[in-house]
Amino acid sequence: MKLTFLGTGTSSGVPVIGCLCAVCRSHDPHNKRRRASIYIQATGQHIIIDTPPDFRDQVLTFGMRRVDAVLITHAHADHVFGFDDIRRFNEVQDTVIPVYGSPATMAAMNHFFPYVHQVAQPGLSCPRVDFQAVAAPFAIGPVRIEPLPVEHAGIETYGYRLEADGRTLGYVPDCHRLSAAVAQRLRGLDCLILDGLRRKPHPTHFTLDQSVAELKRLSARRSFITHMTHDLDYETTAQALPAGIEIPYDGLIVEV
Ligand SMILES: [Zn+2]
Ligand SMILES: [Zn+2]
Ligand SMILES: [Zn+2]
Repeated sequence: MKLTFLGTGTSSGVPVIGCLCAVCRSHDPHNKRRRASIYIQATGQHIIIDTPPDFRDQVLTFGMRRVDAVLITHAHADHVFGFDDIRRFNEVQDTVIPVYGSPATMAAMNHFFPYVHQVAQPGLSCPRVDFQAVAAPFAIGPVRIEPLPVEHAGIETYGYRLEADGRTLGYVPDCHRLSAAVAQRLRGLDCLILDGLRRKPHPTHFTLDQSVAELKRLSARRSFITHMTHDLDYETTAQALPAGIEIPYDGLIVEV
């Protein structure tokens, strides 16, 4: 499995509009964070998790050539409002692209993007997608996908556990609590990526310290923090993290 971090930032991205803090003014490219998304290539499948407002820039910057399926974690703006640009992959690949998420997430997608169900007019470009509400494990080719309900802001939110080629990966970008059942499914993975917003407490996200504690408990072979604010300078945060827990940056590629 090959994982690419397309975005590692919170809903505002980093730098934050109008902010003059040291991280927002930093020249370190590791401190430029697009909204959270990852791209996974495994057994010939190309899977994107979330299509943030930065989706087009992410595709162009990191050179993604194909999307076979989209997984949506939840219907917050920072995870779905770049979705319309999926249509270029329809045109390039000449395929309909399946999009998976919880029932409430798919209802929201239908609400935000009702035009995807209209018959395309000749000469007009529109996503050709198949919205599929899922609540149980399913497969994309040989990749096994398990949706995992997590607590976040009172809206139906999934993390995902992916398994392919004998490798396992977990992705939970937005979450403030993991149930025992979900934690069990995220334990001992090859790679786990978990929400770790900032240092100050937040009602709907794990803080950095909470995230580190969860990641230690779940003991993946490699652990990463994501969905970070301008609170977290890359260099100083990276140096302070315990062994085995890493802070990623946009464009980082990991062989899982
Ligand atoms: Zn988010
Ligand atoms: Zn700032
Ligand atoms: Zn959210």
